[in-house]
Amino acid sequence: MMKELLEMSLNRPAELSKLKAQGTKVIGYFAGDFIPEEIIYAAGAIPVCLLYGGDNRSVEEALAYTTRLLCPFSRAQIGQRFTNEQPYYSMIDMVISPVSCQHMRRVGDIWEEFSGIPVFKVGVGLKQNEIGARWYAEALKLMQDKVEEFTGNKITNVKMKEGIEIYAKMRELLKKISLLRKRPTPPISTADFVKLNHLSYLLEPEVMVEKLKALHEALIMKKEEEPNNMPRLMVVGPAIALGDYRIFSLIEDAGASVVVENICEGVRNYWTSIAIDSDDFLAALARRNIIERPACAFMRYSLKPSLDNILNLVKEFRVDGIVYYWMKYCETYEIEGLYVIEKLQDKDLPIIFIESEYIANEAQLMKTKIEGLIEIIKSKKQKE
Ligand code: SF4
Repeated sequence: MMKELLEMSLNRPAELSKLKAQGTKVIGYFAGDFIPEEIIYAAGAIPVCLLYGGDNRSVEEALAYTTRLLCPFSRAQIGQRFTNEQPYYSMIDMVISPVSCQHMRRVGDIWEEFSGIPVFKVGVGLKQNEIGARWYAEALKLMQDKVEEFTGNKITNVKMKEGIEIYAKMRELLKKISLLRKRPTPPISTADFVKLNHLSYLLEPEVMVEKLKALHEALIMKKEEEPNNMPRLMVVGPAIALGDYRIFSLIEDAGASVVVENICEGVRNYWTSIAIDSDDFLAALARRNIIERPACAFMRYSLKPSLDNILNLVKEFRVDGIVYYWMKYCETYEIEGLYVIEKLQDKDLPIIFIESEYIANEAQLMKTKIEGLIEIIKSKKQKE
């Protein structure tokens, strides 16, 4: 199934080119899950999340337009526009940018200045309460108006409901697959699972839902393997870019299993569903993204809820240790990481902090730290 989906993703740009030739707009947006795909979908356009990263070329290319002090994930979203390596970055007709962390908001500014296509920015309420959600719902209304104007299509309640339902179905299936990793030997690797999440941002949602359903059924039917007794790790961090899978292979090669990811393109996106109790769809989207979803580190008062979320996942997935995977210069997640380390001191849960700037020679240090973590977990288990 993974192979089939990966092949589909390779054909997707050609498919989008054909649709563009017939007049359909392709609208890009930056990651972090504050730009609801549902609104773009409901306007008859095609949402494409820009979330490639992991290679150093695009990060270096971005230095022609910005400073090194922008996190590598953000820099990759700038560099990709100019390296022409990933077709999505050049084929989009417009881009929507969240005014979220300090780095991502600069990505929007730079695209506005240099990309030559329209850029629309969506403010994100920082307070995780009704006030923050209302403020953000207003920003979503402006986004909806802009998307309607750009596509020439009116967003009807019927289309909006359809969009919300299909994306909710997709997240629900991702969560069901995710929970299967609670098994002593997970039937799907977390690297593959994160790839599935990435593909869900690019492929047609109806196709993705169909494939996820089939995959979920196949995984349920799969005979449970004997427990592999490998240390069970959780990877926590801000963003893991499409293509940045090195952390997973280093962990697997060192003899541990990643059983859950706590990242934006993972748990934080699919964990909560959306409640629609009226035709105020924007309010429902806003509540989910601001109040109900696990908090992002740039939001106010996110530290305690983030820690609780981590501890909850540790319990649910029986995690033995944590790899806190941090993007260099991402100050909000650095602060969160230090807080988490401090708070875990009395919990007897080993944790390491690994930073990345998408550089090849970082791998050796990452490997050494991961091996050290695994040693600690193994000797702890021997004493139990
Ligand atoms: S990794 Fe950190 S700094 Fe970079 S975009 Fe994500 S939250 Fe912002």
